[in-house]
Amino acid sequence: MSDAIQLFVPKIRVDETLEAIRGPLEQGWTGLGNLTIDIEKAWNEYSGFSHSHFLNSNTSGLHLALEVFKRKLGWQDNDQIITTPLTFVSSNHAILYSNLQPVFADVDEYLCLDPDSVEQQITSKTRAVMFVGIGGNAGQYRRIRELCDKHGLILILDAAHMAGTRVNGKHIGHDAECTIFSFQAVKNLPTADSGMICFQDAELDEYVRQLSWLGINKDTYARTQSKGAYKWKYEVDELGYKYHGNSVMAAMALVALKYLDEDNARRRELASRYRALLADHSDKIRVVPTAPDCESSQHLIQVRVAKRDEVLAALNDAGVYPGVHYRDNTLYSLYRFGHGHTPKSLLASDEIISLPLHMFLSDEDVDRVGAALINAVATVGA
Ligand SMILES: *Cc1c(COP(=O)(O)O)cnc(C)c1O
Repeated sequence: MSDAIQLFVPKIRVDETLEAIRGPLEQGWTGLGNLTIDIEKAWNEYSGFSHSHFLNSNTSGLHLALEVFKRKLGWQDNDQIITTPLTFVSSNHAILYSNLQPVFADVDEYLCLDPDSVEQQITSKTRAVMFVGIGGNAGQYRRIRELCDKHGLILILDAAHMAGTRVNGKHIGHDAECTIFSFQAVKNLPTADSGMICFQDAELDEYVRQLSWLGINKDTYARTQSKGAYKWKYEVDELGYKYHGNSVMAAMALVALKYLDEDNARRRELASRYRALLADHSDKIRVVPTAPDCESSQHLIQVRVAKRDEVLAALNDAGVYPGVHYRDNTLYSLYRFGHGHTPKSLLASDEIISLPLHMFLSDEDVDRVGAALINAVATVGA
């Protein structure tokens, strides 16, 4: 049998990355500062965001986003956040970390939150919507934004898959109150673990920097005393977290960012090849569409089939190892309370397959996966 084809293989530019990490190692400055500031500037320049703060993960960022709004806007425990069940559990865990209540709305054909379903879930206790752009897809993000404006809700964008996604030529997320990216090892801008949180508001950006560093407020002391020799006499007026990024991860991210557009373009090329191969089989293998006007990062290419688990087993037999993004979170006991209200997500959760998509795949590999999928579907009678 030919070589196994995996879902993801991160492409790290090893020599260039080692060279970039050499600086912080030799200077003995591997923590916060220096390169973490460089990656924030580089990310602003790349994406057009005005305030970006580098973190140790996207999960930390989702938690910080909710804490920032909860504390600044006076949200109460158990206030409601409308969210999607079809996501990595981080999106929903973050809501629970902040003692807020996840309320699940259903998904649309893009596997993103359906604005009509979101609107039905709005109550007097709703404070925000957590939107997840699955696989880099913008879905009906614009309508969600309009809905949030209409009802005075905060929009938080979990953009873990969306580094480099553009809508009408502009990077996604500028009009969300907060957008959070993941630079985890198997995301499309891979480091080992890190992320970026982007607020529209300069004051909230200032505040999140304090919360990501244990609540330490250097500025308060500087304002009252401003004596350089007493730098250790900072003020702590908030319970913060240890969530900021470090210079080794920043060095990795600075290198990866240089290749992000090039890599995403290749992902889209591979995805188009899959779409062309599968076009004649659309009755049995439905490729999840990308929203119009969306130039997706194409972190994922997803298809839907009947008898999904059997199809997956047949693909494994053929040496192809796809993934599933995601199991509807209400199938987990932790989120059981939300089960039964999201039929489209539950159905998708049984049908979806993420096909292998990464920078080491050749066109021939894609042809082989496509043929294996068509064959698997025929064999199991899906
Ligand atoms: C990966 C992922 C996260 C978490 O990102 P980390 O950087 O690993 O914390 C959150 N949401 C989604 C949709 C993800 O895929």
